[in-house]
Amino acid sequence: MPTASKLPVATPPSVNGRRRSDFPADANLCDHCTAKCCKYFALPIDEPVTRKDFDFMRWYLLHDRATVFVDEDTWYLLVHTTCKHLQDDHRCGIYETRPQICREYTTKECEFEDDWCYEKYFETPEQIDEYADALFGPQFPEGADRDIDSIRSRRPTGLPVVG
Ligand code: SF4
Ligand code: SF4
Repeated sequence: MPTASKLPVATPPSVNGRRRSDFPADANLCDHCTAKCCKYFALPIDEPVTRKDFDFMRWYLLHDRATVFVDEDTWYLLVHTTCKHLQDDHRCGIYETRPQICREYTTKECEFEDDWCYEKYFETPEQIDEYADALFGPQFPEGADRDIDSIRSRRPTGLPVVG
């Protein structure tokens, strides 16, 4: 059973583009942050090894705000969604009773700065489909989306190959 993770994730630039080094060592970075760590959750998932695994992943990515990334060889489902208890002033509305995972997260390696990157990052079903196609070949024969009465969406248009 995977456990939830708070990880530094790729986020929009920090407030005014400021970096840790812009603050004194004893400064509380949270006082200068828009609470980036309260605007997502990430779960480790099994590494996909079969075409079916990648099709599950494509299903994840068909959902709004869902992404998949790989960090240090571990695959994660990342959902960009804001905690219901985050207040307008970027402070926790249930600070005294916040979950343990929130208590254990520190500013030491958090995403205050914006230069995190991943080994792999998938934002769209087309991206994961193209990645899987490169490994296994096309999942659907040409024209399959016209001929079958399927509950699935049409085969996505391939992305341009970067190279
Ligand atoms: S832990 Fe980091 S990302 Fe979270 S509010 Fe504090 S400075 Fe921002
Ligand atoms: S419970 Fe509080 S600290 Fe935890 S994610 Fe929600 S707002 Fe952030």
